[in-house]
Amino acid sequence: MSDNFFEIKNVDFKIGNKVKVKNVSFSIEKEGDIICLLGPSGIGKTTILRTIAGLENINKGSIALKGKTLSSENINIEPEKRNISLAFQENSLFPHYTVKKNILLGAERNEIKKDKSINFEELINLLDISHILNKFPHEISAGEAQRASLARSLITKPDLLLLDEPLSNVDQSFKEEIQEKLKKILKNSKITTIIVTHDSYEAFYLGSKCGIILNQELKQFDDPYNVYHLPNSVEVVNFLNRGILIPAEVTSPKSLENKDLGTITGNFVKPFPIGSSVKLLIQPEDLHHDDTSNLKFEVIDRKFRGTNFIYTLKTPTNTLIPVFVHSHHIHQHEVDEKFGIKRPIHIDHIVCF
Ligand code: ADP
Ligand code: MG
Repeated sequence: MSDNFFEIKNVDFKIGNKVKVKNVSFSIEKEGDIICLLGPSGIGKTTILRTIAGLENINKGSIALKGKTLSSENINIEPEKRNISLAFQENSLFPHYTVKKNILLGAERNEIKKDKSINFEELINLLDISHILNKFPHEISAGEAQRASLARSLITKPDLLLLDEPLSNVDQSFKEEIQEKLKKILKNSKITTIIVTHDSYEAFYLGSKCGIILNQELKQFDDPYNVYHLPNSVEVVNFLNRGILIPAEVTSPKSLENKDLGTITGNFVKPFPIGSSVKLLIQPEDLHHDDTSNLKFEVIDRKFRGTNFIYTLKTPTNTLIPVFVHSHHIHQHEVDEKFGIKRPIHIDHIVCF
């Protein structure tokens, strides 16, 4: 038996007898760690959480919490006996109870752990829901309902908390604030948590590890930094959708050549033989803008993101390259204008496939 706080080993996650995600293994090392699972809609994220909570069976592999097997081919501990709290994706507040009663139900259900529970007032303030405590679920907004469900899941300290897209209905303007508060509550109370989301920024911010689920597989389970900078497959790159892959030829242990960009130097994450034809990952922050450069491409789109712009440039070979520019850059380039790229091009982590 391993020392991991939570461990999934070789599990096929299924609904009925239909396998949705195959042969999944990952673990949460320490109590209090937060991990995030990311993946497109319909891939099986909710199924994974439901299975961990004991609502679906498995017939391959094992799921263990604190050294005790919860699910395996022969074992299936009842959901109530797992001390795992699952906050459903959809609003699951009881319609005939007030928000306050709904939240306190969470505490009542788990009498033994009451001493460990998070302070009610603190939670209400952090999630900013004091004004809706006496309202009924039909009288509040979807975002408020999600915050109330979150409060209900957090009020008792489960051994493992499962949050299924907890902030999907929270207004964008309020989201970052809630993310910060959620992280603080989870860290302060040392609640081990698995968060399912389809928002990569949310996963990168909240998780100490992120799992990417694509095509019926857990493709990568890694630090957020590595998932972004060292994606292990073309599928992960395409899913994160921030960079593009361009054809290049490896010309030395520290350089490549591309038709449009010329020489690119840097450190290969994985070595390739000299002369290999590869697909090189270019992320928006890899290229730098320089008005004085003679390497110029046409601007075909510009997205204002508040703190930055993402320009889309078209190269002579019709490749579309994203380039990040700080939003204080004084002269903004319009569509159809030329945009200079700084030379020499150096990329810290060269990722190729
Ligand atoms: P996600 O949470 O990633 O969006 P789900 O785990 O909810 O995905 O669903 C995975 C797949 O299983 C989807 O194709 C979905 O249509 C299907 N599915 C979900 N629930 C059921 C069910 N009760 N019966 C049959 N198929 C289901
Ligand atoms: Mg889901």
